[in-house]
Amino acid sequence: MLHNRGITGGQMAPRILIRASSAIDARGETAPASLLVEGGEIIEIGTPQQVGDVPDARIVDATDAVVLPGLVNAHCHLDLSGPGPVPFTGSFASWLDEVLHLRGDATPESMAAAVGRGIELSLAGGTAFVGDIAGVPRTTQLEVLRSSPLGGTCFPEFFGLGTRQQAAIEEMDSILAEHGGGDRDVLLGLSPHATYSCGPRAISHAVDRGVPVAIHVSESLEEARFLADGSGAFREKIERLGAWNEGVEIPGTHPVDYILDLLGDRPALLVHLNYVEPRHLDLLADANVTVAYCPRASDYFGHPSDGHHAYQAMIDHGIPVALGTDSLLCLDTPDRISVLDEMRHLHRRDGTEVSTLMTMATHHAARGLGLDPSLVDFSPGATGGVIAVGGVPEGGRFVDALHLDEPPRWLVPPVSS
Ligand SMILES: [Zn+2]
Repeated sequence: MLHNRGITGGQMAPRILIRASSAIDARGETAPASLLVEGGEIIEIGTPQQVGDVPDARIVDATDAVVLPGLVNAHCHLDLSGPGPVPFTGSFASWLDEVLHLRGDATPESMAAAVGRGIELSLAGGTAFVGDIAGVPRTTQLEVLRSSPLGGTCFPEFFGLGTRQQAAIEEMDSILAEHGGGDRDVLLGLSPHATYSCGPRAISHAVDRGVPVAIHVSESLEEARFLADGSGAFREKIERLGAWNEGVEIPGTHPVDYILDLLGDRPALLVHLNYVEPRHLDLLADANVTVAYCPRASDYFGHPSDGHHAYQAMIDHGIPVALGTDSLLCLDTPDRISVLDEMRHLHRRDGTEVSTLMTMATHHAARGLGLDPSLVDFSPGATGGVIAVGGVPEGGRFVDALHLDEPPRWLVPPVSS
């Protein structure tokens, strides 16, 4: 037992002993559970018999709850938390028009307010770390995120096809020079927006920078059509936005083949992958990628059209799949932004195993964001916080909490600032 750790500067940090119906992380579930935490560090976890009494610890009674590490939302757009839900009318291209229009009206002040609301809703959902996409003006979101309790990676977003790639590349370099590096709780990554909105040179430039990179890939069939022959709704949209130019290259391949060819063995977080073919599974497993699946957002847009996202087959092939929420615009929980609700959604829809769900919401997501996975499990050492999901029956386990709608509460809050 390690009950004498945590003495810093001659002062004993407050220690708490959490008693819970069960404790679960990506490594397994303990029920009933005792969790000893001191000064934001996990000291010990086990059954009450294993951990024993800790005379100087404050007891936190969570015996009506399951405790989890603070969660990781691998893909969100916190800067779209200002407006309410945007009804989906059946066309992704016109929905996106509406979202771009909302963004176009934003001032730095309204953007900061929207991100602030997104952070509040994320914390209300038990989120400790986010992979947040930041549209223009980009640095406002980064600053707001860096002054919040959330950790994670901020991905400034870039568009640029054909002759416009050079401008995107210069913008990427300038934001990295000004805001990157250092030992930060919020890392600075890059997001070339998508395969159809950012050219190959710009995508390659981003992944060559050695920072976390997130790209929307194979989200819709309209994307596949545009990459195949340059036609369809996205071609019209790109022309309408004035982004088409004579330098645009049409790869003539499937979005997944296109991006994997571009990446080689360089790492990236591929967002959505709603449309993959069986032959892609081995290719994805051999690549250095993490997939971010946003179940409620995909369902909201009717992706994939047959209703069967390949996330389970991906996991069976050894591909790390993380969970994301995408934006608040697509969610059915106006009071929180949480991958806990994505876990509930998958468990109810597909009967997905709790161990798979926990790994998706913690270890896999941390990998995709370039974070240390041990921050989001109960192994001894630094932690991104501890949450409790209450309302479970006596002797309840996490699987019981997946059938409830109870929001999580923080027992040990995340500490980055
Ligand atoms: Zn997105």
